[in-house]
Amino acid sequence: MNSMTQVHHQVGDEILTDYAAGNLAEAFNLVVASHVSLCRDARHRLEQIEAVGGAILDQGHGFAMAPGSLEATLALIASPQPEETSVAPSRRCSVLPAPLQDYVGGCIDEVAWRPVGMGVKQAILPTSPEASVRLLYIPAGCKMPDHGHRGVEMTLVLQGAFLDGDDRFARGDIEVADADLTHTPVADLGEDCICLAATDAPLKFSGLMPRLAQPFLKI
Ligand code: ZN
Repeated sequence: MNSMTQVHHQVGDEILTDYAAGNLAEAFNLVVASHVSLCRDARHRLEQIEAVGGAILDQGHGFAMAPGSLEATLALIASPQPEETSVAPSRRCSVLPAPLQDYVGGCIDEVAWRPVGMGVKQAILPTSPEASVRLLYIPAGCKMPDHGHRGVEMTLVLQGAFLDGDDRFARGDIEVADADLTHTPVADLGEDCICLAATDAPLKFSGLMPRLAQPFLKI
């Protein structure tokens, strides 16, 4: 299956604009970069946002754009580009997109997983401290603890899928949760689920056990 074609849940233009402008914390930056590398539509929207941003910057510096130059720029960036160009063929990995491989220093086999209970494993990736990002390995059918959010949580699926209410998130799909949402994501049956999840504030767990474990899991 082509991993570029089945993305149903994309990041919104507001987050893409912050990403293009370099305004996201490193942890969120990594999630969006990985999402964009798996989702052709999101990448196309990002290119348009970058072109508009570039044009605005140009005008801000007093340079008028030549007639037709925006169209020319858009045509140029709309032309097909090789997928994940920064990855040498020998480093190709079916689970981790290129931006993540750089963080992990290899493919999924190189991830230093730590067990967090119920068969779930995590690997916290090093980033700047204003937000944190981790890889999560969730066995098929496993229910995550019921929780709310004090800040923003972005979850990108890399393998398998998870269900959240009526929504199903599969490879390349991203879920953005905030303080308005309380949820209990469940890994779909069939395949163990691997996600990349970034947060900028501790989660609010309803259950006692997750709350007790929380300081140790740094989530
Ligand atoms: Zn959540």
